[in-house]
Amino acid sequence: MTVAGLARLPAEWTLAGGIRVGSTGWAQGDLAGEGPAVERRRGLVVDLPWTVLKQVHGARVVVVDRPGGAVGEEADAAVTAVPAAALAVLTADCAPVALASPEGVMGITHAGWKGLRAGVIAATVQAMRRMGATRVEAVLGPCIHSCCYTFGEDDLVAVESRLGHQVRASDRSGRTALDLPAGIRSALHAAGAVMVGESDSCTACGEGFWSWRADGTSRRQATVVWRP
Ligand SMILES: [Zn+2]
Repeated sequence: MTVAGLARLPAEWTLAGGIRVGSTGWAQGDLAGEGPAVERRRGLVVDLPWTVLKQVHGARVVVVDRPGGAVGEEADAAVTAVPAAALAVLTADCAPVALASPEGVMGITHAGWKGLRAGVIAATVQAMRRMGATRVEAVLGPCIHSCCYTFGEDDLVAVESRLGHQVRASDRSGRTALDLPAGIRSALHAAGAVMVGESDSCTACGEGFWSWRADGTSRRQATVVWRP
């Protein structure tokens, strides 16, 4: 296990069980795709086999039974209890949530508004509990904030009905917006997890992050969780 000395990660945490979490940004390069260049960039962040899923904005959770397992599976969350595995999600506005328990069970979730509505956070916590997790701690990496997340009324009502009125917000122009971090907090609380940290960076207007909303980019930052 090594953490890149090249450039400081925009966000890092140590959670229950000594489980580590790091979120990247421009400084660590584009971590989407395949091939030696992206593998090298990922290895500079965490030098362990990465599990990167084919993210589809659903609620499916895969159980990873060996370091580097389940690569490319269609799912938006992964959990594992094996050491020396690195579970990652790639994001450019969606919310990356990393989870950990004192028993060494860890998880990662890619949650946009569709995944939140589908229950991906609850599904991840439940999968961890089935693997023996008691207290589940969670952190939220950089995602789009309400300042930049103008949202249609019908879709907002759908999210609100599941997660509560705290998700309703206004953007910087006063138009209806979704407060994605509030939705994550609500979903974690409902699932019985404890939120112990969150990035205050907005990917769309903050410096140093890729944002699909801001410029339609295909490049992605990563949030990765691992147990050294
Ligand atoms: Zn913003």
